Amino acid sequence: MKIKTKLISGVGLLFVFILLLAAMSIFYVNALKRDTNNILVANYNTLEYSRNMLLALEQIPEDSKALADFDKNLARQKVNVTEIGEEEATAQIIDHFNALKLNPEDGHLAPAIRKDIAELMRLNMEAIERKSSIAAATANSAIFWIPVTGAVCFIIAFILLVNLPGNIANPIKELTASIKQIAGQNYKERVHFESHSEFGELAQSFNTMAEKLEEYSESKLDKILKGKKRIEALINNMHDPVIGLDEARKVLFANDEALKIAGLSTENLIGKQIQDIAVTNDLVRDLIKDLINPGLKEKTIEPVKIFADNKESYFEKEIIDINILPTGEQAAQLIGHVIMLRNITPFKELDLAKTNFIGTVSHEFKTPIAAIKMSLQLLENEQVGPLNTEQQQLLESIREDTGRLLKITGELLNLAQVESGNIQLAVKAAAPEEMVQYAIQATKTQAERKQVKIETDYADHLPMVQADSEKTTWVLVNLVTNAIRYSYENAVVSIRVFQEQDKVKFQVKDTGTGIDEKYKHKIFDRYFRVPGTQKEGTGLGLSISKEFIEAQGGDISVESALGSGSTFSFTLNVAER
Ligand code: ADP
Repeated sequence: MKIKTKLISGVGLLFVFILLLAAMSIFYVNALKRDTNNILVANYNTLEYSRNMLLALEQIPEDSKALADFDKNLARQKVNVTEIGEEEATAQIIDHFNALKLNPEDGHLAPAIRKDIAELMRLNMEAIERKSSIAAATANSAIFWIPVTGAVCFIIAFILLVNLPGNIANPIKELTASIKQIAGQNYKERVHFESHSEFGELAQSFNTMAEKLEEYSESKLDKILKGKKRIEALINNMHDPVIGLDEARKVLFANDEALKIAGLSTENLIGKQIQDIAVTNDLVRDLIKDLINPGLKEKTIEPVKIFADNKESYFEKEIIDINILPTGEQAAQLIGHVIMLRNITPFKELDLAKTNFIGTVSHEFKTPIAAIKMSLQLLENEQVGPLNTEQQQLLESIREDTGRLLKITGELLNLAQVESGNIQLAVKAAAPEEMVQYAIQATKTQAERKQVKIETDYADHLPMVQADSEKTTWVLVNLVTNAIRYSYENAVVSIRVFQEQDKVKFQVKDTGTGIDEKYKHKIFDRYFRVPGTQKEGTGLGLSISKEFIEAQGGDISVESALGSGSTFSFTLNVAER
């Protein structure tokens, strides 16, 4: 049944019963009124007239007015005949009264009239008795029917009170709960209401909506699954190893290459905590050390060396953090990491070939250059034969070129050593002043040619340093050469050596061209030369210096401003006494 019909019929029924109750009450009140009225009009008046007639009869013949009084009451009684037998009784009184009027002295008539009146009174009293029992019956019926109707009304009202609110509110409650389920993406939720009411239609519409949403979400899920499969296929077909982690560092995916190099099976890797795997797997431990210890990140540009498939391979590791910005939120949220390894073995092999080549070539160059130098010295010897000025100039330029060649081959040899990763260090306690002096000696001609003055400033009681003096001197020569080379004529290059905690700092300061801020971080890179540098050079000196100093446990840095010169500093550990 529809809710509207339910409401109308419930409230309507109640309304009808209230009307019925009112009508019944009115009916019974009226019936009671009619019954009592009957008694009053029909019988009480007759009794009144009879009494008056009896009183008047007592006065006749003494009182002349009594006759008229009797006559008046008798006339009233004549028009108030209501009961069976009353007419005859009244007629008798009239007859006897008329006879009395004609013969007032007759002593029998007065008792006859009294008897007639008594009969009339008896008739009416009987009628009163009968009518009052009728009124009592009417009252009894009213007492029965009015409460019965009232009780029925009460029961119906009570039933409505109990059922109707629930009938309306319960489906709304159920519907609200189902809407909440849908809002929580449980599209399987359905509602089941009695199908004839408005709620039935509502439930049907709701269920259709839920079904469509379910269909839509499944199709979306299907799309997402297909997309996931595509990405998985892509990752699996990549030649570079890839491992995906969630925000709790649990392995989400790993491609075949990753499994191969880690020597793990899918079951042993996917779904496991990466830290747990790292305990037993050296490679995984190496891969995640930046993740576990973020402070290490900067330093680990070193390629990862992996031995797999019976050969050594080199990989460049990159850890990408995956951040998302949830809808409506301001802060990005970390949802995982991807560890990518780029196979750089072919480049590494090429690089090695290049280093070997450089090493071999520069080594092979050394002997002929030394032979050239020796021949030069022989030629310069007066005993070999006199040289004219032109020949002497030619020899001078050959010497310069040979010097340059020797420097380059030296740098290339050092580079080959650095690149192959086996810098041979002969570390022992060395005196800083000695190394500086040696460097000054080596760059003397160059400085003199440019009229550059080299000043030294040694702190008192300088300790010995823990260093490979040959390599450190090479660095110092390189820094001083650069300082002279990039200084203007007649400038001063100052070398300061002082102790700083457990280190000794060497500073080479010039007042030359200086280095533009934007190139400062690059000058220690291999083959880098500040664009526009006219002076000869390979761009290797500073990078080799950096390697040499760092290999000895020191640091190298530069402070410079374009146009006002540069200060190159490096530190070395104080030698233990
Ligand atoms: P190069 O053989 O070119 O000198 P370096 O590695 O020694 O190679 O230096 C790299 C670059 O740094 C140089 O090309 C030069 O532009 C710049 N540089 C080095 N030292 C100085 C200096 N004292 N003053 C200005 N620029 C310098």
